[in-house]
Amino acid sequence: MLLSGKNGIQSAFDEELQHFLYGKECLLDELPFSRELIKKHVRLGMITLRLGVETIEKGIVPIQIGSKKWVCRRCGNTDPGEFGTVSCSQCRKRCVYCRHCLNMGVVRSCSRLATWSGPEPIREERPWRDAKRICTWEGTLSDQQKMAADRLDQSLSSGQSFLIWAVCGSGKTEIVFPAVEHALRRGERVVLATPRTDVVRELYPRFQNAFPKVPVSALHAGSENQVPDAPLVISTAHQLIRFSHYFDRVFIDEVDAFPYHFDPMLEYAVRKAAKEGAPFAFLTATPPPNLKNAYLSGRLNGVKIARRFHGHPLPEPKAWWIGNWKKSMKQGIVPQSFMKWVKQKSSHQVQLFIFVSSVSLLRELTELLQREGLGHVAGVHAEDPDRHAKVAFFREGKIRILVTTTILERGVTVPGAEAAVFGADDPIFNESALVQIAGRVGRSERRPNGEVILFHNGRTLEMVRAQRHIKQMNEEGGL
Ligand SMILES: [Zn+2]
Ligand SMILES: [Zn+2]
Repeated sequence: MLLSGKNGIQSAFDEELQHFLYGKECLLDELPFSRELIKKHVRLGMITLRLGVETIEKGIVPIQIGSKKWVCRRCGNTDPGEFGTVSCSQCRKRCVYCRHCLNMGVVRSCSRLATWSGPEPIREERPWRDAKRICTWEGTLSDQQKMAADRLDQSLSSGQSFLIWAVCGSGKTEIVFPAVEHALRRGERVVLATPRTDVVRELYPRFQNAFPKVPVSALHAGSENQVPDAPLVISTAHQLIRFSHYFDRVFIDEVDAFPYHFDPMLEYAVRKAAKEGAPFAFLTATPPPNLKNAYLSGRLNGVKIARRFHGHPLPEPKAWWIGNWKKSMKQGIVPQSFMKWVKQKSSHQVQLFIFVSSVSLLRELTELLQREGLGHVAGVHAEDPDRHAKVAFFREGKIRILVTTTILERGVTVPGAEAAVFGADDPIFNESALVQIAGRVGRSERRPNGEVILFHNGRTLEMVRAQRHIKQMNEEGGL
């Protein structure tokens, strides 16, 4: 294609290169094009290069390695513990490299990152844009959901970010459908980012069903559903590191998804993936302090939804003392009152989530429950190779009791399931985590109630805060 260059000189650019690089940020070495061609585009001002790892100036948090301060321009890492040095085969010097994003290919201080700064590619036909309805979701929004959905879309359409602060089970996903549909109709690129792979897996089919004609891409480590140039992307925040100035609207689900906090590096990745001035929508049940304060002081548009979509209150967690559970587990004994509760629930065909603080505890407890003769018990944790299969079996009801670490605290919805936290006094269970765990219960209209029990050896401040949080939300919801 011919273009007018800076001095009115006609110059050609390579469309294949344009399509490859537009909206992304790649290591120069990763570009499957000749050096000659790349150099030409750099000269034309259509490719911008910057150093992969740089020393940073004043104004950015200073981190020192030796006498210098470093930042990785790909992932935003500034943590000195996350940099290393190598004697580099490329530049034949000692180079600093970033450990934080190493799994996406090494970025060194002599690496160059390339982005496209030429014209946007002409996009392929998108016939679905003319369809009367792009979103074919059949459900209806409650009045409160509808109000939130309208305000969200209005705010984003005027370029203003928005917070949806909503109790678990308020139907947050459905609330964003109209704003997503509107953006797609305008020909915009939309991303829904979350810190958690589980949430991507849960949301992907729901968006696919709601937007059947729109190509949807799911990005997480090992994803098989990656569609190039899809206008709707559901992604872990981590995978967005590869993008640059690409998305027109950004939805962030579970901003504070413990234990994968939206740390500064993930935030860097998401901000970099967004076009300049693109509005953000934050969806959460427990907003982190910066968003909460921005909303309460009126600096951030938003809405608070204190009622679940079915109108029933959130289950308020009860705290049950079980004595020194650590000691009794060491002796191979499951505390009696906990065991009694589990057996009673199983005899009533109730499916149970049992949350624990560590993988070793998970293994011990799962085995002891199985030894007690309880059938269909399984344990699952983040590194479990059968993790996704087990979650699927639990959803189908083939597994009745699922002992789990906090990986499942959000995103997994099983109607009628109830929850226990075994050892809720462990510091891993903070307010946000406990609120999310309680939010797993009573989500379906047919079974809106259910128990959430915090089994503990001494009530913690976080437990009290979580109980207060839920009570307050129920009161605000008029329940
Ligand atoms: Zn080097
Ligand atoms: Zn990095």
